[in-house]
Amino acid sequence: MNPLCTQIDSYESHLLEPCVTEDMLGSIYVPRVHYLNPIKFALAYRNAAVKHGAKFVNGAEVTEILHEGARVIGAKAKGECWYAGTTINCTGVWSEKVSAMAGSTAPIHPIRGEFAITEPVKHFCNTTISSAQYQTIVQHPELFPAAAIKYNLGFSVEQTSTGACIIHGTREMNSGLDNGVIPEVIELLIQTACKFIPKLGTLRIMRTYAGVRPGTPDGDPYIGLVSSVPGFCECCGHGGEGIALSPATGEAIAELLNDGHTKHCDISRFSPDRVGKV
Ligand SMILES: Cc1cc2nc3c(=O)[nH]c(=O)nc-3n(C[C@H](O)[C@H](O)[C@H](O)COP(=O)(O)OP(=O)(O)OC[C@H]3O[C@@H](n4cnc5c(N)ncnc54)[C@H](O)[C@@H]3O)c2cc1C
Repeated sequence: MNPLCTQIDSYESHLLEPCVTEDMLGSIYVPRVHYLNPIKFALAYRNAAVKHGAKFVNGAEVTEILHEGARVIGAKAKGECWYAGTTINCTGVWSEKVSAMAGSTAPIHPIRGEFAITEPVKHFCNTTISSAQYQTIVQHPELFPAAAIKYNLGFSVEQTSTGACIIHGTREMNSGLDNGVIPEVIELLIQTACKFIPKLGTLRIMRTYAGVRPGTPDGDPYIGLVSSVPGFCECCGHGGEGIALSPATGEAIAELLNDGHTKHCDISRFSPDRVGKV
């Protein structure tokens, strides 16, 4: 069986990616990487859920979690009450607020990340190129300037099928919920990427955007029923891996609510009951 990843030296790394400067001393090569478009993926989930009888109400913010005694019995959105045997909180980076409405506690530590998209050009990038700077900053902050530490500055570059390059790789811890782009961060991100991939410096940036990842204090998501609030289930806090983890999370939640336990994976580590106990 082919290995999941291999460590390769500078020579082999440059054979794979001639667009990177001599600064690349080696790399970890992952041959079987897969990508998806998160918007199309979310729509596919939505369509599958509708086929199974789910109803979506757009633009309906949950403003109240309904109780009968200590038990959660549903949610109120746009003035309308929706009742359920179990109410699942899957409101991402906003989950802490909805948890509080239920009487549960699920602290979310928002982590902002910024993106820059270039104009489309002829393909010059063969793989996704990710620097290990982010990991190095965590291990050796003394080697980096303050701004690199503040924004956990690394970079990842991938060229899409249209030829546009996506440049990203910042992780601003406890950033707050504002998903506005900070020009200083985009500037730093592009400078860092251009140092290693000079071709990027010749391309025009067509757009920029930012998003906020739903981090948690211990880095694990909250998945499971809340013992102190019957009828309420947390499913949030997946940080920067929520898309990749969504199939397993959905399966675990479906098994838990249908069968009373999970069959395919042990989710005890992710129990929301751990809050305040660590
Ligand atoms: C910069 C960046 C890069 C990322 N890269 C990756 C990656 O490479 N791979 C990966 O797997 N993941 C990645 N992620 C993480 C991923 O996007 C999240 O983990 C995932 O979207 C979380 O899914 P969710 O369903 O829990 O929350 P969300 O996708 O945020 O969905 C929550 C929904 O709840 C709604 N909502 C909020 N409050 C209320 C309310 N009161 N009432 C009703 N609805 C409400 C929101 O409008 C939203 O539609 C990245 C995230 C960012 C920001």
